[in-house]
Amino acid sequence: MIYLDYAATAPLEPEVLEAMHEAEKRFFANASALHTPGHLAMNQIEETRELLASIINAAPQEIIFTSGASEANNTVIRTFEGHEIETSPLEHHSILETTKKYAGDKRPKLYSYMLANNETGDILDLPHEKGAFLHSDLTQALGKIPIDVHKLDLDYATFSAHKIGGPIGVGALYVKEGAPFEPLIIGGNQEKKRRGGTYNTVGIIGFKAALSKINPKVYDTKVRELRDSLAHRILKEIPGSSLNTNLERGKSLPNILNASFRAAEGESIQLYLDAEGIIVSTGSACAAGDIKPSHVLMAKTGDAEVAHSSIRFSFGPDNTMKDVEKVMAVLPGIIERLQKISTIEV
Ligand code: PMP
Repeated sequence: MIYLDYAATAPLEPEVLEAMHEAEKRFFANASALHTPGHLAMNQIEETRELLASIINAAPQEIIFTSGASEANNTVIRTFEGHEIETSPLEHHSILETTKKYAGDKRPKLYSYMLANNETGDILDLPHEKGAFLHSDLTQALGKIPIDVHKLDLDYATFSAHKIGGPIGVGALYVKEGAPFEPLIIGGNQEKKRRGGTYNTVGIIGFKAALSKINPKVYDTKVRELRDSLAHRILKEIPGSSLNTNLERGKSLPNILNASFRAAEGESIQLYLDAEGIIVSTGSACAAGDIKPSHVLMAKTGDAEVAHSSIRFSFGPDNTMKDVEKVMAVLPGIIERLQKISTIEV
């Protein structure tokens, strides 16, 4: 199998799996308990908090563990319930849907702009306004480019473990010291009363193992080379192809390539590639099965045909140039076959 769907979920790193197996045996106790096994579990959680804080230039007490990025996003938007909230049109649905439901017109205002988009990899400019608060969904950015919450001037930031080789169901929220905060899950003293629920120690230990391995340099060099090579070959070898990702350094994450193939439907391309053992996605998996074209590609291109014919290739550090070659050995033929049966002219 050639796995090119890292942006949906990265495979568990072997070190993560091992750390979690070990944790199941050694750190099973309730981390809030006052006994020794409880303390040992809590130490692991605090080590993870310190590691994430050091990676993003935050203080450990500014990190809250959650069940993932969706919960972290919901928490920030719910904190600003009834307030004016402005988001980019490219946000994940956990921002867009909550904003639709809970935004009002009170001040101060919240801006929620992701740093990097999950469908195209594009890097956005973040808005800064005096007196307003700024949240950024850094789910896709973590591990791919260096992150500094102070340099970005953020009040809130969202992370997810399963996008960096950690387990699904663990994430974190950065809340700047002093920024407004309302817990989403109440009824527990965990996380200094900021997020109720028994600590997911094993998951958080998996997150730590994944965090210990992140290396944006590998993305900036090796992974970028793979992504760019596939992009250039697609444009050169496949008629009717176009890119929805800006390849320029600093304009997109180095691991995501979104491309469209005129007169070929994204879902059909995905299925044909799947049959060849090549795993990609159309837009975001969260919207899969949705017949509406991706809101991200519509916002970016305004062209439903481009959106319907798009595929996202997302790379990780384990991919090789052989993977690119294998994709290019079958993709042109798949596109040609689909274009032949289409009523749209290439
Ligand atoms: N935000 C972005 C930008 C994402 O890509 C994702 C995952 N598709 C999420 C939020 C949701 O993350 P989680 O699965 O951890 O809830």
